[in-house]
Amino acid sequence: EKQRPERNETERLDREYTLGTWTRQRDFDPTQIVDTEGPRIVTADGDSILDFSSQYVCTSLGYDAERIADAVSEQIREVPYVSPGWSTEPRAKLSEKLADITPGSLKKTFYSTSGTEANEVAFKIARAYTGKHKILSRYRSYHGATAASLSASGDPRRVAQGPEIQPEVPGMIKGPDPYAYGSSLDPDESLEYIDEMLELEGGTVAGVLVEPLVGSNGVLTPPDDYLPRLQEIARDHGALLICDEVMTGFGRTGEWFASTLYDAEPDIITMAKGLTGSYQPLAATTVTEEIGEYFEDNLLNQGHTFSGHPVACAAGIAAIDTYEEEELVENASEMGSYLKSELEALADRHPSVGERRGVGLHQGIELTKSERERVPFEERSDKVSSKQTVLDEVGARALENDVYFYTSVNTIVVTPPLTITEAHVDEAIAALDDALEISDSAMDE
Ligand code: PMP
Repeated sequence: EKQRPERNETERLDREYTLGTWTRQRDFDPTQIVDTEGPRIVTADGDSILDFSSQYVCTSLGYDAERIADAVSEQIREVPYVSPGWSTEPRAKLSEKLADITPGSLKKTFYSTSGTEANEVAFKIARAYTGKHKILSRYRSYHGATAASLSASGDPRRVAQGPEIQPEVPGMIKGPDPYAYGSSLDPDESLEYIDEMLELEGGTVAGVLVEPLVGSNGVLTPPDDYLPRLQEIARDHGALLICDEVMTGFGRTGEWFASTLYDAEPDIITMAKGLTGSYQPLAATTVTEEIGEYFEDNLLNQGHTFSGHPVACAAGIAAIDTYEEEELVENASEMGSYLKSELEALADRHPSVGERRGVGLHQGIELTKSERERVPFEERSDKVSSKQTVLDEVGARALENDVYFYTSVNTIVVTPPLTITEAHVDEAIAALDDALEISDSAMDE
């Protein structure tokens, strides 16, 4: 049984009247956050917690980006909303800015409000443009929560409720991942496998969808040449390369986009989270000039009331200005190197750390019960159960030490805001150093 302080009025109301996400409601018992300071969140009981998750890997600017607060309140006073059929300055300028910072010939942007939708939009665009219908993605992936995006995900949540209750959208096929530590195929073989899948599908695949660096399914780093090779394979079979940069975009890996880091030129990039630093809900699907041209004479049969919402777009511009002026992409790269060496030192000290992975401020450590081989403490299916795993205990101990980490599929995800300093890294590593005693002592003999 989890120990928690007695619920306050807010927590009681929330528990009583809100349906919690991704959980049996019995397990929904959230702690109230009343304040924030820099990269920290503060509970109603006054605990100041260093956020080394950036929540859902999205509050990349920390919690005191004044410039966004100003831009948002100004925009609300000037033009709080008009439908997407009208033009507003924030949308026009943000679109121009995205064309500028995204790789290759990516140029035109379609707006929505979540990463999930950004991917749904990408599917529609890829299908209309190629005249084909299938989407090939990979098993260790998460692309969103609604019908098509969840069907394209390999995440345990896709099958958690049973296919009888939540049938999958047809046309979604999945291949292997370049995950040497936890799979029987090596990265080269995984690419050959995908090549063969595309061959056998006989030219019916519209798009190959990947997270360039897998996030919530275990922070999986591909070999350096993986993405360019995948791009070539996709093109050879007439499929578009769609990079889901919902988590990796906006400097997280030390480059504006992970596609750039890995020298790929995707046909479509989807983004959300860091686009506004999560100060406003905003997502984007950016396509190449060529795809944009196609829709000059062909119907783009998609739209949302809140597409290109002016207040959200104003937040997006202010967020990008903040990344640029505070040199946060560079900071992600520098702090990332420091974090990497500190995590590797932790891995040396703790036998239960099996592997460190990731780049920039998108890193993680996977735990193992055995020093000789990978024996996970947490199975994939545990992610959607109420079971308390050793991984949960490690996370809970870190939180007692006032540092919050997101934990997922046997991995402690280390994804702080891009605003952190070395002192923050030291604080987080000390908390983790203590917490990993739990997994060390739970190892097999
Ligand atoms: N793609 C990736 C890679 C993600 O990490 C997420 C969210 N964790 C999504 C898509 C879905 O985004 P959202 O939760 O905003 O719908």
